[in-house]
Amino acid sequence: MSVSPVCWNCQSAIPPNTFLCQKCNKIQPPKKIDEFKLFGIPEKFDLDLEELEIAYLKLQRLFHPDKYSQLSDQEIKYSTLLSSMINEAYQKLSSSISRASILLKLNGFNSHSEDQSFNDPEVLEEIMDIQNNFLEAENPEQKKNSIQKLNRKISETMNSLSTSFKKKEYEVANRLNIKLSYLKKIRIDFKKQL
Ligand SMILES: [Zn+2]
Repeated sequence: MSVSPVCWNCQSAIPPNTFLCQKCNKIQPPKKIDEFKLFGIPEKFDLDLEELEIAYLKLQRLFHPDKYSQLSDQEIKYSTLLSSMINEAYQKLSSSISRASILLKLNGFNSHSEDQSFNDPEVLEEIMDIQNNFLEAENPEQKKNSIQKLNRKISETMNSLSTSFKKKEYEVANRLNIKLSYLKKIRIDFKKQL
């Protein structure tokens, strides 16, 4: 697959971060691009999810393979690849955890190894406290309270994560993101036991 910056059909220049030739309207082969640039939205943690959704629907309409059924196999292939790339990027940006991981990576951090949190006694202790609190709950009411406590903890962690990105404190952000992923996993476990 070519990564040429000119149209494969008419040789016109293709502007960066676009996948459609402005001259002949042919779909261009997918190239590596980060999720924020793909949607043309600001690279930040506190994303406007509505803005993301609008950008997603717009791109998805543009490249949906069904739209191109009368076109060449090559163009159908490109639109299929682009379409799944767009879906995947949308899923990733919609989740706060993977969005944080993407931002960390874009800022030079290889984030989110699960082993890291086991080396973080403070986070581990907090998580154990939450789990014990839930296990000790004797009735549905107490279990619900325990989940509410966990929800508050998740909100707090999200707020701190947002602040750390604003301050460009990526090590702190990385740690908070691992913590957040654990808290969310626990919440899924708890809800199964309700
Ligand atoms: Zn062209």
